[in-house]
Amino acid sequence: MSILYRSDAARAAGWANYFAQHAPDLDFRIWPDAGDLKEVEYLIAWQAPAGFLAELPKLKVLFSSGAGIDHVDLSAVPAHIPLVRMVEPGIINGMVEYVSLAVLALHRDFFDYMAHKANHVWDPLEVPPASARTVGVMGLGSLGCAVLERLAAFGFKLRGWNRSPRTLEGVETFAGADQLQPFLAGCDVLICLLPLTPATKGILNRELFAALPKGAALVNVGRGPQLVDADLIEALDSGQLSRAILDVTEPEPLPADHPFWAHPRVFVTPHVASMTQPESAAPILLENIRRDQRGEALRDVVDRGRGY
Ligand code: NDP
Repeated sequence: MSILYRSDAARAAGWANYFAQHAPDLDFRIWPDAGDLKEVEYLIAWQAPAGFLAELPKLKVLFSSGAGIDHVDLSAVPAHIPLVRMVEPGIINGMVEYVSLAVLALHRDFFDYMAHKANHVWDPLEVPPASARTVGVMGLGSLGCAVLERLAAFGFKLRGWNRSPRTLEGVETFAGADQLQPFLAGCDVLICLLPLTPATKGILNRELFAALPKGAALVNVGRGPQLVDADLIEALDSGQLSRAILDVTEPEPLPADHPFWAHPRVFVTPHVASMTQPESAAPILLENIRRDQRGEALRDVVDRGRGY
């Protein structure tokens, strides 16, 4: 039984160690030291080019090494091979940390104080209570729900918007295109945690920004193509939006001459909000392989029709 890991080389050893200890019956291989590709039954990969998949005639399951799967060309994955996305505590914790940090930095004016410090300015700003601000999350999946749960501890007012209706304690929820505008109308900070699909591409655009309260802030931790860059700059320059924190961009890396780098109210991080952690992800992936071996249904299988 062979598994091939073809993803981030820096974390390969963590995966290999876990499988060596907990699944010595499985032959865990690390790309490019892949041996005979014809023997590979499970592939853990970030990208899976069609030509490469064609070299794996025995492939049974394709595991994405990350939470999103928009980078995978689904048409290149044969219909009988399930694509499994990564849902694991390490990714969830990382995202909860990043979004909490972003919301608190906005709430407590840290970006203003960074500018003040550069100019040697001592200027205490008002400190409203967290309960005076409403944070809204687009996408109430495994990450959106975890983020809202943690933000509740700080006392923010919370809203969530999702494709299908959700009930979350302490969160005012909205669903579907009809309820997008009423959702946005109350968000002082908007967090995007949507998967990238045809329906969400370009969703963070001029019309959406106009529906937010004047001076709202945006945190995009979903995917770069969800944002219309020129519309964001226009909204920031007009004062409709106060700030944007972007962990994802299109393209990545963000080109050196992109206007986001120099914009004083855009803060960019290089797609690091959260990452798969081998220690917490390997046990979940191994359990999924064991399910497959027992002929049971796999968890976290991507719905090809929905695209996430
Ligand atoms: P899930 O699949 O668990 O959740 C996605 C949620 O989005 C679901 O609740 C779904 O609704 C909702 N949704 C999908 N399409 C729409 C739409 N058109 N309108 C409204 N809601 C919609 O995903 P995760 O929470 O695990 O991850 C979300 C995304 O976060 C990933 O796809 C990835 O792009 C991004 N991510 C970013 C990382 C980073 O480091 N920046 C790291 C990890 C993930 P429904 O309940 O109806 O299905």
